[in-house]
Amino acid sequence: MVEAEAPPVLSVIVPVKDEEAGIAPFMRRIAPILDRVAGSAWEVLFVDDGSTDATLAAILAAHADDARVRAISLSRNFGKEAALSAGLDHVRGDAVIPIDVDMQDPPEVIAEMVVRWREGHEVVYGVRRDRRSDSLPKRLTADLYYRAHNWLSADKIPEHAGDFRLLDRRVVEVIRRMPERNRFMKGLFAWSGFRQSGVEYERAERTVGTTKFNYWKLWRLAIDGITSGSTVPLRVWSYLGASVALLALLYAGVVVLRTLLFGRDMPGYPSLMVAVLFLGGVQLISLGVLGEYIGRILVEVKGRPIYVVRETIGFEEGQG
Ligand code: UDP
Ligand code: MG
Repeated sequence: MVEAEAPPVLSVIVPVKDEEAGIAPFMRRIAPILDRVAGSAWEVLFVDDGSTDATLAAILAAHADDARVRAISLSRNFGKEAALSAGLDHVRGDAVIPIDVDMQDPPEVIAEMVVRWREGHEVVYGVRRDRRSDSLPKRLTADLYYRAHNWLSADKIPEHAGDFRLLDRRVVEVIRRMPERNRFMKGLFAWSGFRQSGVEYERAERTVGTTKFNYWKLWRLAIDGITSGSTVPLRVWSYLGASVALLALLYAGVVVLRTLLFGRDMPGYPSLMVAVLFLGGVQLISLGVLGEYIGRILVEVKGRPIYVVRETIGFEEGQG
């Protein structure tokens, strides 16, 4: 058992949902790396995001081995973004690194991130050199997403950078002060500014456990990202409406002229149907977009907590 003495310089946040087989291998790999870069002044904070397997027991065992392992257990599954927020609220390090437990993001990169941090960068994000470990559809949709997001939003997110990054304490405090319930982390990181730089790395395939993200969840995350970072989808309809109205006016002129010149000739069921159905569709889409935003306003207005802690491990009385 290793006792925790020095206040941590480096904190690692690991959100986990049903990862019982992942905890021990993760600690075996990351502990020597952290020892090398931070001496003994580090902590690993697991955020148990409503696991239903033996994840919490595995974390307790890791804590018994090494008191620098601490954890908070949430009252249910709140999702990875909320779990990360919970982690940011409970770490103490001067530099904070969120990382997945599956080691797809190699912990070895942490050493380089810390070097950049000591050189004066407040945010050092990991950039995937390529996406070879992803399937083709995942690669294509990810590519499309980054493009759409950065085209629509004022806060550009770096392409192919995930949540794996180093954050200086000052950035952590900025993010903690952001009041929104919708915690699209990549957007929050981008908004905060500071001196940011990227380190490239190769992302491995998952070796233990299974991915917790299916395409539907990724789609919801993408919509969260765009609606929280941009109001373009709301405003575009006025322009579209104005263009359609203008075109309709022009077309009305043509019809009037044609009738004056060539007399009445009014077949046109197909064109009528096309116009009705097309405009009906466009109107429903615009209503749907309004709905997305209004739903989010509702969530923000309710102002419920982002997460609820059920239990903490390794926190002394009155701390954290
Ligand atoms: N995770 C979480 N809550 C969730 C879903 C995932 O805390 O609701 C954690 C998960 O245990 C893992 C990390 O988030 O440590 C990334 O998940 P995963 O590896 O499944 O995502 P992928 O790498 O496939 O994008
Ligand atoms: Mg993964």
